[in-house]
Amino acid sequence: MSLVILKKNDLNQFVDSLLEDYRVGGPVAKNGGYAFEALEEAADMRLEYPTTILPPKKFLLPVRETLFEFHDAQSGVVKAPEPAIPTVIFGMHTCDVHAVQLLDQVFSSGYADGKYLKQRRQTLIVSLECLSPCDEHSFCKSMGTLTADEGYDLHLVDLGDAYAVDVKTDGGRELIERAKVAPATEADIQRLNAVLSEKWPRFPYRLDFDISDLPSLLNISMKSPLWEELGERCLACAACTNVCPTCFCFDVHDEIDLNLTSGRRVRSWDSCQLDEFATVAGGHNFRRSQALRQRHRFMRKGRYILEAHKFLGCVGCGRCARACLVDITPVNVFNELHRQKELGGHA
Ligand code: SF4
Ligand code: SF4
Repeated sequence: MSLVILKKNDLNQFVDSLLEDYRVGGPVAKNGGYAFEALEEAADMRLEYPTTILPPKKFLLPVRETLFEFHDAQSGVVKAPEPAIPTVIFGMHTCDVHAVQLLDQVFSSGYADGKYLKQRRQTLIVSLECLSPCDEHSFCKSMGTLTADEGYDLHLVDLGDAYAVDVKTDGGRELIERAKVAPATEADIQRLNAVLSEKWPRFPYRLDFDISDLPSLLNISMKSPLWEELGERCLACAACTNVCPTCFCFDVHDEIDLNLTSGRRVRSWDSCQLDEFATVAGGHNFRRSQALRQRHRFMRKGRYILEAHKFLGCVGCGRCARACLVDITPVNVFNELHRQKELGGHA
């Protein structure tokens, strides 16, 4: 829609004005790292953060949320869930923007998820261009998520003493009206182009093959011996899926109060890496070994989700690699499968 310039000195005033009407989620320093939290004041936000442990998806799909409450088992009185909270997620990196686009697709297709979609419609995204890799685990360039041209309402690019702000949507325009901004000049646009072109060489390609080959690589890798090796190493701790911005599996259970007449239906994140995840009636487990569970995880990331939703299930954020205690990482797994294929293995 338009490009405007927001001086860094005016950023906190902008964010504080948002806080008057919105829950604003932003990156803050926490426990020696960074986390997306609901801000109390703009000064707490740290836009220079490399990455966060948990992704910002928790504002759309909370770790645990009540779907509804019931108060009388006999008459079946049911209380509707809390209404959606008007929210701005501020400072989201482009890998996470791509991840939210996938979540939007997943939760709006098939049996549309009303709870997610209500919150999503009340959520605006202010994203931030990454100008250098988070760390050695990032592989966003290989996954095509190093930048984004949609999926946000406002997008910030750091120009040094100011941000270039791409105003993408009507919602973004309403937000930026609260800020002291100036239209971008020709000199600003030249500075923006220079910043964007200088960033690309800083990011390495970390996959040894083109990402468009990933689905077919996985397709011929069902019988790879790598899965057994990963299964023996994996601790089944579920850290990898818990930190992943694209994992969307959840569990639903009822909690009954001690009075036995009231309670609530709760949804919470679940993980395909837990052995009970695929246990069904009769105690049968259709993914009975950790090797099968690891294979399923990587097939989802590079193939199954693409086939179902037209988006790859991995955005290359590297969070799972940072979280894994036994160094099971998507880059190593995909590159090893590629190496095996080049050697003519695992038909
Ligand atoms: S699989 Fe790992 S690298 Fe890929 S999106 Fe999930 S956490 Fe990020
Ligand atoms: S974080 Fe590592 S050890 Fe834990 S479940 Fe995932 S792959 Fe296995």
